Amino acid sequence: MKRVLGTHEWNIVEDGFDPKRNRIVESIMSLGNGYMGMRGNFEEKYSGDSLQGTYIAGVYYPDRTVVGWWKVGYPEYFAKVLNAINFIGIDVTLGQTPLDLHILEPTGFKRTLDMRHGELRRNFIVEDNEGRRFSVHAKRIVSKEHREIAAISYSITLEHDPTQQGTTITFVPYLDGNVVNEDANYGEDFWLGITEASEPGLQLVTMETKKSNFVVAAASSCRILLNGSECTSLEPKYLATSRYAETLVEASLSLGETLTLEKIVAITTNRDFPTEQVTEKAVEILGTYKTRSYDSLFASHSKAWDYIWQDSDIKISGDVTAQQGIRFSIFHLHQTYTGEDPRLNIGPKGFTGEKYGGSTYWDTEAYCLPFYLSTSDPSIAKNLLIYRYNHLEKAKENATKLGLKGALYPMVTMTGEECHNEWEITFEEIHRNGAIAYAIFNYIRYTGDHDYLRDYGLEVLVEISRFWASRVHYQPRKGVYMILGVTGPNEYENNVHNNWYTNRIAAWTLEYTLEVLKNSDLEVDEEEKQFWQDIVDRMYYPFVEELGVFEQQDGFMDKHLMPVERIPAEELPLNQNWSWDRILRSCFIKQADVLQGLFFLGDRYDLETKKRNFDFYEPMTVHESSLSPCVYSIIAAEVGYHSKAHELYLRTARLDLDNYNNDTDDGLHITSMAGTWMSIVYGFGGLRIEDDRLSLKPFAPAEWQGYSFRLRFRDHRLEVNVQAGQVVVRQEGGSTCEIMVHGQLQSIAKDGEVTITIPS
Ligand code: BGC
Repeated sequence: MKRVLGTHEWNIVEDGFDPKRNRIVESIMSLGNGYMGMRGNFEEKYSGDSLQGTYIAGVYYPDRTVVGWWKVGYPEYFAKVLNAINFIGIDVTLGQTPLDLHILEPTGFKRTLDMRHGELRRNFIVEDNEGRRFSVHAKRIVSKEHREIAAISYSITLEHDPTQQGTTITFVPYLDGNVVNEDANYGEDFWLGITEASEPGLQLVTMETKKSNFVVAAASSCRILLNGSECTSLEPKYLATSRYAETLVEASLSLGETLTLEKIVAITTNRDFPTEQVTEKAVEILGTYKTRSYDSLFASHSKAWDYIWQDSDIKISGDVTAQQGIRFSIFHLHQTYTGEDPRLNIGPKGFTGEKYGGSTYWDTEAYCLPFYLSTSDPSIAKNLLIYRYNHLEKAKENATKLGLKGALYPMVTMTGEECHNEWEITFEEIHRNGAIAYAIFNYIRYTGDHDYLRDYGLEVLVEISRFWASRVHYQPRKGVYMILGVTGPNEYENNVHNNWYTNRIAAWTLEYTLEVLKNSDLEVDEEEKQFWQDIVDRMYYPFVEELGVFEQQDGFMDKHLMPVERIPAEELPLNQNWSWDRILRSCFIKQADVLQGLFFLGDRYDLETKKRNFDFYEPMTVHESSLSPCVYSIIAAEVGYHSKAHELYLRTARLDLDNYNNDTDDGLHITSMAGTWMSIVYGFGGLRIEDDRLSLKPFAPAEWQGYSFRLRFRDHRLEVNVQAGQVVVRQEGGSTCEIMVHGQLQSIAKDGEVTITIPS
């Protein structure tokens, strides 16, 4: 596997600039704070290949749908997360030479993502056309202290000067709203300008999206320092044109001196303020922060990261590649979603690219929820559930549109409406509804918050159940219920009948809803409940008798079955090399499908069943969805395939760092990073909830000396420290906590700990 970047416990370092991998590194080095974020683009002009991207959470455009052949039920639009105002830009001229790393070749180039402190840094050396040598040191943060603030420090030192006369440096910090999306169905410009201004102490651009009418204002200010002291005698020039504002400052620089530009930016939107106040709020917030130095803003930002790491760090000893992978995942998850705003959710690419439109997928419920449940305040996980509760009416409309009852949650959404329009996904990938029901169950069993079930959850469960009951089909010849024409989690099969996972999660939803209804006042007709029970009792599940495995779908066994290792390496990934029909006809599996069900409903299947299904399906799985290796890793760990679990862990943890699927250039796989976290905590740590208690079955992979992770569980805060032969579980504060460790009940006092020998 190609290793693009060096390994380090806390940093991601690109040593030496390679324009060919620039987009990949830009994705990896993205910064964000849940409110806004941007790719690791350069501040100064770069005329080489780059994907410019600055994104503001919840600001989208309903792009007109493109389809070859319109089908009834298709949504009218496809939501696009918008490339918004470029507020990091600083044009630089060294003497007479414009600084553009596509033209001036840098030496000593280093781009570093410091995950410990949430800072992106760049260092490099360039020469101007007169042979003067400059070292450049740029750093920036997207503040975790105040979500509307970002700050940049950009320093240039004259290191060598054959002219012996020094030179001038021209800085042009700017705000530029003349930006486009690469992914625009009709190449449209999505923005309209409202205001622009440039004057002492303030650059301002306010813009509005077409159709969706989001108003975004960016206000910035800058100051220049010479050798650390502010220069007040400079005479900046101010310019504002359509959707653009800049300040041009020129300063002299002599040998050995350092000139620094500090730029502070405030971003506001009408998602949080009345439209007419958006501009003045940006100016007001900027006013509060612009007197602070970069270092002071950095100090409070990095303190906020300290708190985050205190609660959610995972430490691995003896394997730096594994350590870097998990910190990279935890870092990006916290950059993407903070849970403060229930209107927001987790886009599979976060703030790192345009793909997947910044929209919400089943990824949130199936993969991300456990991470937030264990590492954050319960209100954060709850907000993820409330998001779907708030979309219930739209989900009902969606089901009606498809001629069905109850609620069908969209596969891809911003505001509750479906915005994906490939029939095999929009109409057929209905298993997503199961994940939303499962998340309610998962949240309740983890938090014990039964009020949520009464006040919100049950309503959602009932409507999802109504959907399943109207979507199943009774087969009188066989006396069973079937679900025809679906796409399961494995998207390399379309329009199949009786996808085992879909049938299983549908029946499970009905069963769980019936159980919850027993203790509730919510009235559901007896007849309807009996029908649901009948579906639970007589659901059909494809099964391969001679192998004792669940059949992924009807007819799967008729395929030409062979392992992935028989595919020539140059034909992988299949989705970039094979025609779609060849993929569909083949046996190759994109991502966990039967195994997804064995993970979700793990307490209903014994280890032998899990092992048989793993042995059968894993060799045929290409893991071309980022969501795949983590689930396989968890099951491998559970059935005792420890080294396979470790191999799959590395695949999920380093998916983007090593560009495994050759697709990191257009953004990171944020949702699968939560799967990486699960591979450790649910896989190696064996976390499950059993009988209303936390249960752990930790072991340390042979490749590691040990690892530790932290958990919040109800009122308890625990640290689990695993070494080769033993596990120590420590409680911080709290009250007596009873948990199962390797099948034995342990009681941990306030501030106490227990040490358990890991059974061999
Ligand atoms: C996967 C889906 C997933 C989506 C977004 C696709 O490649 O097959 O399961 O929801 O990516 O992550």
